[in-house]
Amino acid sequence: MSIRIYNTMTRQKEVFQSIEPGLVKIYVCGPTVYDSPHLGHGRASVVYDILIRWLEYRGFHVKYVRNVTDVGHILETVGEDRMILGAKRERLHPMEIADKYLLEYLEAMDRLGNKRPSIQPRASGHIMEMVEVIEKLLEKGYGYVVDGNVYFDVSKFEDYGKLSGVRKEELIMHRVEPDPRKRNPADFALWKTASEDYPLRWKSPWGYGFPGWHIECSVMSVKYLGEQIDLHGGARELIFPHHENSLAQSEAYTGKKPFVKYWIHCGLLTINGEKMSKSKGNIIKLTEALDKWGKDVLRMFYISAHYRSDVDFNENSIKIAEENLRRLSDFIERMESMEAVEYTLSENEREILEFTKKSIIDFEERMDDDLDTPGALAVLFNYVRAVNSLIAATSTLNRGVKEEALEFLNTVRRVFGVLEEYKPPPSKDLVERLIQLIVEVREIFRREKRYDISDMIRNRLRELGVELEDVAGETKWKIRKPI
Ligand SMILES: [Zn+2]
Ligand SMILES: [Zn+2]
Repeated sequence: MSIRIYNTMTRQKEVFQSIEPGLVKIYVCGPTVYDSPHLGHGRASVVYDILIRWLEYRGFHVKYVRNVTDVGHILETVGEDRMILGAKRERLHPMEIADKYLLEYLEAMDRLGNKRPSIQPRASGHIMEMVEVIEKLLEKGYGYVVDGNVYFDVSKFEDYGKLSGVRKEELIMHRVEPDPRKRNPADFALWKTASEDYPLRWKSPWGYGFPGWHIECSVMSVKYLGEQIDLHGGARELIFPHHENSLAQSEAYTGKKPFVKYWIHCGLLTINGEKMSKSKGNIIKLTEALDKWGKDVLRMFYISAHYRSDVDFNENSIKIAEENLRRLSDFIERMESMEAVEYTLSENEREILEFTKKSIIDFEERMDDDLDTPGALAVLFNYVRAVNSLIAATSTLNRGVKEEALEFLNTVRRVFGVLEEYKPPPSKDLVERLIQLIVEVREIFRREKRYDISDMIRNRLRELGVELEDVAGETKWKIRKPI
């Protein structure tokens, strides 16, 4: 077995081999905490959660860093820091905005059933380290200072553009309003100067200011995971400029290539075929979606599309997710309720066993192939359909066959993170205590000569396979062996 992952850098699927055997170091670009997380944030978070679950299933130990951006992420259309925009909107300090929406994000992540990252560093807590790295970049000749601003000189970094495929000439056209103080219009800010009344500013060798957005991810990735890591993830829209610039900074700073061995990007989420936006008023908050549909339906919906594809949220797609979840949960319940017996395998049971083993291999094969979750779901539901019909006429199953089937289902639950809190049927112990209670209630009716009710209870219990025997004023009971 080997996992294959599509690497944005090479534009092809590659066999995944971690730098250190058995250990995977992954950095994922996290939220900018200036507003409520929406369905799209949920999608990206589940994509990387499934990746981590799959790596763990394949035996890797995973070190997972997901940053929190609370400074420097400029909204291009208005040229202002998102944190400041949030602060103005709600008349709060930008750091109050950061706390408020970080908490909302983290709560939503927990409710969504995502595994928590190993570290969730905040940009504003790493200004000193960013200043240090910027100083080093200047020292090495990769940047220059103009009026308290520090720019990265893309002409000094030969590989610039290799991740996104954007050529330097094209870059110039992408810039809305090229800053005339830059040497090259494609150069980007490492540090920006800020006036005295600006609420997010720190002291630096170039005067008061704040860091550019990209430098935080270079700094925190190197600080917590080392100079070279296995995986870096984020939404596709981050490839340019964010990841292109993070890569340039990191490799220029450390002098080591590659900064990231595999770049993985996920597709976007649309609502009824349209991009989510404030102006269209079609934003669905993640917390509201969780209230309405619950985590399992949302996860089922997210994994119904391949992570690199865009996924559309609409009435039909959520209905399909609900149906799929119900089919899976009904099947698990049915399988759990089958009485395990020790008899030798019947023809059907032999078939189920073979099919279970094959389905596990097929499921793993699909997941190994660049996390093909729709393919893995197809394997699963093909299995559910076939086994359902093979067990339609029976309530017992050979113990080994049942255990194998449940193991497959548990793998599915663990890897997809769905139905994890599913409650197993009541223990044998509880069943016995309930029968004892019913028998005692029947005794009361018998003493009051209400034989119509006591006989009804006896008959109904017999239908369920529980035999009552009245011996010398006492009632004994036993569970009949299934035929
Ligand atoms: Zn990133
Ligand atoms: Zn980032």
